[in-house]
Amino acid sequence: MFPYPIDHIGIAVPDLESGSLPYVAIGLTVLPDEYIASQQVVVRAFWAGESLIELLSPTDPSSPIAGFLEKRGAGLHHIALRVEHLLAEIARLEAEGARFISNQPRAGRAGTQVVFLHPKWGAGTLIELVEHQK
Ligand code: ZN
Repeated sequence: MFPYPIDHIGIAVPDLESGSLPYVAIGLTVLPDEYIASQQVVVRAFWAGESLIELLSPTDPSSPIAGFLEKRGAGLHHIALRVEHLLAEIARLEAEGARFISNQPRAGRAGTQVVFLHPKWGAGTLIELVEHQK
Protein backbone atom coordinates (compact mmCIF):
# COMPACT_ATOMS: atom_id res chain seq x y z
CA MET A 1 0.00 0.00 0.00
CA PHE A 2 1.19 3.54 -0.71
CA PRO A 3 1.92 5.65 2.39
CA TYR A 4 -0.55 8.26 3.65
CA PRO A 5 -3.82 6.57 2.62
CA ILE A 6 -7.00 8.55 3.13
CA ASP A 7 -8.19 7.50 6.58
CA HIS A 8 -11.44 9.41 6.40
CA ILE A 9 -13.23 12.43 5.01
CA GLY A 10 -14.91 14.66 7.60
CA ILE A 11 -18.25 16.27 6.73
CA ALA A 12 -19.94 18.83 8.98
CA VAL A 13 -23.69 18.40 9.42
CA PRO A 14 -26.14 20.11 11.77
CA ASP A 15 -28.10 16.88 12.20
CA LEU A 16 -26.79 13.30 11.94
CA GLU A 17 -30.10 11.79 10.82
CA SER A 18 -30.69 14.05 7.82
CA GLY A 19 -26.96 14.13 7.12
CA SER A 20 -26.89 10.32 6.94
CA LEU A 21 -29.61 9.99 4.31
CA PRO A 22 -27.42 10.11 1.17
CA TYR A 23 -24.91 7.58 2.55
CA VAL A 24 -27.66 5.23 3.73
CA ALA A 25 -29.32 5.53 0.32
CA ILE A 26 -26.05 4.75 -1.45
CA GLY A 27 -25.75 1.67 0.77
CA LEU A 28 -22.66 2.37 2.90
CA THR A 29 -22.26 0.39 6.12
CA VAL A 30 -22.70 2.54 9.22
CA LEU A 31 -20.67 2.24 12.44
CA PRO A 32 -21.91 3.12 15.95
CA ASP A 33 -21.94 6.85 16.80
CA GLU A 34 -19.09 8.10 18.97
CA TYR A 35 -18.79 11.27 21.09
CA ILE A 36 -15.42 13.02 20.74
CA ALA A 37 -14.96 15.20 23.82
CA SER A 38 -11.89 17.04 22.47
CA GLN A 39 -13.92 18.39 19.52
CA GLN A 40 -17.37 18.45 21.13
CA VAL A 41 -18.87 16.47 18.29
CA VAL A 42 -20.73 13.25 17.73
CA VAL A 43 -19.24 11.28 14.84
CA ARG A 44 -21.18 8.85 12.67
CA ALA A 45 -18.85 6.91 10.39
CA PHE A 46 -19.63 4.96 7.22
CA TRP A 47 -17.27 2.54 5.50
CA ALA A 48 -16.33 3.59 1.97
CA GLY A 49 -13.89 0.94 0.81
CA GLU A 50 -10.98 1.02 3.26
CA SER A 51 -11.69 4.65 4.21
CA LEU A 52 -14.45 6.22 6.24
CA ILE A 53 -16.85 9.04 5.63
CA GLU A 54 -17.34 10.71 9.01
CA LEU A 55 -20.31 12.95 9.68
CA LEU A 56 -19.53 15.47 12.43
CA SER A 57 -22.34 17.09 14.37
CA PRO A 58 -21.62 19.60 17.15
CA THR A 59 -22.87 18.95 20.69
CA ASP A 60 -22.05 22.46 21.94
CA PRO A 61 -22.01 25.96 20.38
CA SER A 62 -18.29 26.24 21.28
CA SER A 63 -17.45 23.22 19.10
CA PRO A 64 -15.22 24.09 16.11
CA ILE A 65 -17.80 22.31 13.95
CA ALA A 66 -20.56 24.64 15.20
CA GLY A 67 -18.45 27.61 14.10
CA PHE A 68 -17.82 26.01 10.71
CA LEU A 69 -21.54 25.31 10.14
CA GLU A 70 -22.41 28.89 11.02
CA LYS A 71 -19.86 30.33 8.58
CA ARG A 72 -19.92 27.83 5.71
CA GLY A 73 -22.95 25.59 6.19
CA ALA A 74 -23.04 21.80 5.94
CA GLY A 75 -20.48 20.07 3.77
CA LEU A 76 -16.88 18.96 3.39
CA HIS A 77 -14.85 19.92 6.47
CA HIS A 78 -11.50 18.08 6.28
CA ILE A 79 -9.57 15.20 4.82
CA ALA A 80 -7.56 12.88 7.04
CA LEU A 81 -4.41 11.02 6.04
CA ARG A 82 -3.21 7.98 7.99
CA VAL A 83 0.35 8.04 9.35
CA GLU A 84 2.40 5.42 11.16
CA HIS A 85 4.15 7.71 13.66
CA LEU A 86 2.30 10.92 14.39
CA LEU A 87 4.93 12.62 16.58
CA ALA A 88 7.66 11.95 14.01
CA GLU A 89 5.45 13.37 11.22
CA ILE A 90 4.73 16.51 13.28
CA ALA A 91 8.43 17.06 13.94
CA ARG A 92 9.36 16.48 10.28
CA LEU A 93 6.66 18.81 8.94
CA GLU A 94 7.41 21.54 11.48
CA ALA A 95 11.06 21.41 10.44
CA GLU A 96 9.81 22.01 6.88
CA GLY A 97 7.78 25.03 8.02
CA ALA A 98 4.31 23.49 8.21
CA ARG A 99 1.67 25.28 10.29
CA PHE A 100 -0.54 23.29 12.63
CA ILE A 101 -3.76 24.44 14.30
CA SER A 102 -2.19 22.76 17.32
CA ASN A 103 0.85 20.50 17.24
CA GLN A 104 -0.41 18.63 20.31
CA PRO A 105 -2.05 15.31 19.39
CA ARG A 106 -5.65 14.93 20.55
CA ALA A 107 -7.94 11.96 20.93
CA GLY A 108 -9.88 11.22 17.75
CA ARG A 109 -12.45 8.57 16.91
CA ALA A 110 -11.85 4.92 17.82
CA GLY A 111 -8.79 5.52 19.99
CA THR A 112 -6.84 7.40 17.33
CA GLN A 113 -4.47 10.33 17.94
CA VAL A 114 -4.91 13.25 15.56
CA VAL A 115 -3.56 16.70 14.66
CA PHE A 116 -4.81 19.30 12.20
CA LEU A 117 -2.65 21.31 9.82
CA HIS A 118 -3.69 24.89 9.25
CA PRO A 119 -5.92 25.27 6.15
CA LYS A 120 -3.82 28.22 4.96
CA TRP A 121 -0.80 25.91 4.94
CA GLY A 122 -3.02 23.23 3.35
CA ALA A 123 -3.78 25.37 0.29
CA GLY A 124 -7.33 25.96 1.50
CA THR A 125 -8.03 22.47 2.84
CA LEU A 126 -8.02 21.43 6.49
CA ILE A 127 -5.77 18.36 6.60
CA GLU A 128 -5.79 15.99 9.57
CA LEU A 129 -3.10 13.42 10.34
CA VAL A 130 -4.29 10.25 12.09
CA GLU A 131 -2.37 7.55 13.94
CA HIS A 132 -4.25 4.40 14.88
CA GLN A 133 -3.55 2.43 18.05
CA LYS A 134 -1.00 -0.30 17.37
ZN1 ZN B 1 -11.25 13.72 11.09
